[in-house]
Amino acid sequence: MQKDYYHTLGVAKNASKDEIKKAFRTLAHKYHPDKKTGDEKKFKEISEAYSVLSDDKKRAEYDAYGRVFSGGGGRGGFEGGFDGFDFSGFQQGGGFDGVNLGDIFGDIFGGFTRASVRGRDISIDLELSFKEAVFGVERRVLLTKTSVCHSCKGNGAEKDSGVETCSVCNGKGKVHESKSSIFGTFTSVRACGTCYGTGKVPKVKCKACKGARVLRNEEEVVIRVPSGINDGEMIRLSGGGEAIPGGESGDLYVKIHVHRDTRFYKEGNNLITTLPVKLTDALLGNEYSIPTLDGDSITVNVPQGVSFNEIIRVRGRGVPSAGGRGDLFIKVTIDIPKKLSKKSKDAIEALREEGI
Ligand SMILES: [Zn+2]
Ligand SMILES: [Zn+2]
Repeated sequence: MQKDYYHTLGVAKNASKDEIKKAFRTLAHKYHPDKKTGDEKKFKEISEAYSVLSDDKKRAEYDAYGRVFSGGGGRGGFEGGFDGFDFSGFQQGGGFDGVNLGDIFGDIFGGFTRASVRGRDISIDLELSFKEAVFGVERRVLLTKTSVCHSCKGNGAEKDSGVETCSVCNGKGKVHESKSSIFGTFTSVRACGTCYGTGKVPKVKCKACKGARVLRNEEEVVIRVPSGINDGEMIRLSGGGEAIPGGESGDLYVKIHVHRDTRFYKEGNNLITTLPVKLTDALLGNEYSIPTLDGDSITVNVPQGVSFNEIIRVRGRGVPSAGGRGDLFIKVTIDIPKKLSKKSKDAIEALREEGI
């Protein structure tokens, strides 16, 4: 479909260069996508129209043939250019270089600064035995990641050589970047790539990282798992993620997986275990020695006439916590013999006679 560039800019066919420029300025200010009244589609249309009508050669072609042969007449170049102030697209697509409106957008974009940089987070899984989860444990894990260089502690300088003010950004850590295009000069502020935004550069580059300040290597990370951690819980090690020069490191997330134990389980700060006792011990009472999660053994007194599922409580043998240790609950079960000897049968028959 034929595009009427004169109509798009709202100017007459014989409009002067100044009139076209003025019309474009007004419309561009109004429809720029970052303005309240913005309209990206409209903005692209007027930009395309202006790119043609402001160029004598293109305008002549357009007037004669209704289209432009030289330099694409606004094709491409605009796609994807408006997200997050990425104006790199304006440099492509041809036909716009060398046109300079200078001041149109400088006032709009002058104050733009890039968000601060941060390294990536890392997530790992850690498997623990039940005992480790109850008492807490210190684990050392080997991670391959980008870390702050240990030799220079991240300033990029060889030992004792020190740092000096970055000459690129004059120590400000930021550089203003101006790009001229048909829409004017875009000024953006970004972190200085020479000093990574720190304003300081090494006098002599660190041999270990070659001045890069960070290094990708295998690093031993110490993970201190607190007592009483539950399966599925996450430990966050602030700054334990990937390092980035001139920015803060990401975090390390450790997801905990706790293996089941065959003898113990946990309820809050208490540990629970079961103790199978003989029928005769249940009837007459007895002492039992049972192993604890701590690794030692304790003697518990099973009282005479203990019932099935009765709980014997041992204080201070549960999960360690800030308020002291929880308790150990010993749940009694009674082994009922499946087979009886003649002698046993007779003895139990005698009990029955007694009404037991
Ligand atoms: Zn270094
Ligand atoms: Zn710099």
